[in-house]
Amino acid sequence: MHEVSIALSMVNELARIAKENNAKYISAVNLRIGRSSGIVIDSLKFAFDAIKLENPLISSAEIVIEEVPLRYECNDCKISFETDYIHFPSCPDCKSYSLKLLSGDEMDIVNMELEV
Ligand SMILES: [Zn+2]
Repeated sequence: MHEVSIALSMVNELARIAKENNAKYISAVNLRIGRSSGIVIDSLKFAFDAIKLENPLISSAEIVIEEVPLRYECNDCKISFETDYIHFPSCPDCKSYSLKLLSGDEMDIVNMELEV
């Protein structure tokens, strides 16, 4: 399950940041995850909550995930739009399949709260 390896590298990264900032622990982490990133948010939360228990710097961190919708711009008529279609979306206006992804594939740590 690839959410487990994502959660693992996230915990490592958070632990590194906590140490760099001489934090006692991390109390919250905010993430933005795009709908087309291929990450199942519930699985990631579940994996994170299991793995964090092994690290006292992270064990009380609450993870908050904001799901970023898919946004495309049509290369033909230049409108931008949101869609739920991950596979073969088309422009709602001119039906073109020639689209540019504007957002929806990100996986970012937006910020975190440290207790020092
Ligand atoms: Zn169009």
